[in-house]
Amino acid sequence: MGFTKDRGREDLRVLRITLKYSASTVLVLIALGALGCAGIVQPAGPAGVALLVLLGVWCIGLVWFLHFRQRVSAVIRRWTAAVLVFYPVCFYLGWTNMHRVELYLDHRNWLTYESEHFIFHYAPDYSRSHEIATFVAIRDEAFKQNCAYLGVSLDNKIDFYVYDELDEGFAVPEWNEVFADDDQSIGHEMTHIIVYHIAYERQKIKLLDEGIATWLNHSTVVTDHHYAAWEYIQENGLPALSELAHTRTFRRQRPQPYYPAASFVGYLFEVYGADAFRQLWTANAKYSELYTTIEDFGWADHFSFIPGERAHFESSVLEIYSRRLDELDTEWRTWLEEQYGQ
Ligand SMILES: [Zn+2]
Repeated sequence: MGFTKDRGREDLRVLRITLKYSASTVLVLIALGALGCAGIVQPAGPAGVALLVLLGVWCIGLVWFLHFRQRVSAVIRRWTAAVLVFYPVCFYLGWTNMHRVELYLDHRNWLTYESEHFIFHYAPDYSRSHEIATFVAIRDEAFKQNCAYLGVSLDNKIDFYVYDELDEGFAVPEWNEVFADDDQSIGHEMTHIIVYHIAYERQKIKLLDEGIATWLNHSTVVTDHHYAAWEYIQENGLPALSELAHTRTFRRQRPQPYYPAASFVGYLFEVYGADAFRQLWTANAKYSELYTTIEDFGWADHFSFIPGERAHFESSVLEIYSRRLDELDTEWRTWLEEQYGQ
């Protein structure tokens, strides 16, 4: 009896030691990875580096605690344990708010100009700061029109960062932020934010997302999006809309099919009304973010329970418009041809 008990205790001790050393090895590897990544790759600027260093230090701290905690007094041991437990929480908060930290670091000396619907931010040496009032008034007006068109109202103002030169403007709808070149079209990026407020979810169908942002861009260069679409199709051709419902297919088209997308969305709005469009938008914004990610990696075929962005989009079109997507596609192209053909 005693023999079995000792044997059991011994097994447990071996297991504990094995676990301790395996955990330590994993932690040391993570620490080395994090510190190496911070030193060599330096992702996401100084804030990213700082967080990786902190992750490395935390892993080393855990290893120390596993092996050497008996060497310090109980008080120090307790405090160290408390710090090590709260550390991941602080790390998580830091990581998820890194965007704010970076934004602050990059723009802390920028000036602001507040209007009815925006807080404009611009560099102190911004070359067109004397025109800011006009710049702002035009955008406030476009904002009002687009909100009314989409039946949306926003509680908070949009933070709009204006640049002399930015490779490509973008919007962060979850944070109510726009980063744009001052000669980019007036309404494109702000529309990404306004339309986000229909369903409070990111739109998964790029055809709809870029379509509506381009349709409501208030461009002074391209004033007829239907004509621009017709011209695009004549020059480049256009895959079936059901193909373009695939984010990957949409992204791969050259040039990017923004005008056809805008024209199709505009057609839906003009012929079938705002309510139907809002329903279509919501149905596809609510499509699972997880499924979209798996599809982006091209792994969807391995998971039979994933309906697929395209199939989901097609069935929502059928439900809302009582027409199949390919029927709407033909109807729209025929209409374009009638308008601009010959
Ligand atoms: Zn866009």
